[in-house]
Amino acid sequence: MRLQGKTAIITGGARGIGAAIAEGYAREGARVCVADIGLAAAEETAARIGNGAFALALDVTKIESIRACVAEAERRMGGIGILVNNAAVFDMAPWGEITQQSYDVIFDVNVKGLLFMLQEVSESMKRPGKGGKIINFASQAGRRGEPLVAVYCASKAAVISLTQSAGLALIKHGINVNGISPGVVDTPMWDHVDSLFAKYEGRPLGEKKRLVGEGVPFGRMGKPEDHVGCAIFLASAESDYVVAQTYNVDGGQWMS
Ligand code: NAD
Repeated sequence: MRLQGKTAIITGGARGIGAAIAEGYAREGARVCVADIGLAAAEETAARIGNGAFALALDVTKIESIRACVAEAERRMGGIGILVNNAAVFDMAPWGEITQQSYDVIFDVNVKGLLFMLQEVSESMKRPGKGGKIINFASQAGRRGEPLVAVYCASKAAVISLTQSAGLALIKHGINVNGISPGVVDTPMWDHVDSLFAKYEGRPLGEKKRLVGEGVPFGRMGKPEDHVGCAIFLASAESDYVVAQTYNVDGGQWMS
């Protein structure tokens, strides 16, 4: 078991990719805290995982919520060795219809929330003899723009950049900061994406999702479980010399 005795907090861990990683870490021996704005769903996920997993309410857009969640997770686990910065939201609109409200929500969760969660946890990991592993969730959307998805793409480009800066700043404290960049993954988020493409491209529901899946070189959309292996590697001692990188885990999507 590669994470035996480790402790991990997974933001947005109630469902989708975050829930799969929480389960995967627990299978490898870690104690996990499933932290999510949806507490009831987080509690269900933690109960399903077992092995001492527990849920905490967290809204990454609020610094008091971050501080309370991190303090409680540390109290219950005796410290945090791994942070998976996975919580995010999606929205899209044609260029002329982008609103400040949509911009604020996306950047508050995907960028500001990720940054201050990382700051809070890394301050605790900096204590002598500690160190840790931080894994940020970016996206193929952060590697290039899309005509209808400008703000989400920009937010994920910011995640790749923050991963580089934090990785370089924190490695001297024994904290590895790296990222994972998924392609298209079949989660509740993609159902929301599909409904927005249906609206803006005049498609039947489900069509965009089917088409993007067919376009992945691997031959299908990603599943949440497809990201667990890389997330375990980046949380384990096997990745100690990996610094400030964002790995594509996307069935070849970005290369195509
Ligand atoms: P999802 O929408 O299924 O799950 C996201 C979770 O984050 C939910 O449980 C939600 O309650 C939680 N959350 C939202 N706002 C929050 C907040 N303010 N504070 C705390 N928790 C909050 O998403 P997913 O598809 O599992 O995506 C996981 C990560 O992977 C995200 O960073 C996403 O941007 C990225 N990603 C997803 C895809 C995809 O195709 N699904 C592709 C590329 C990247």
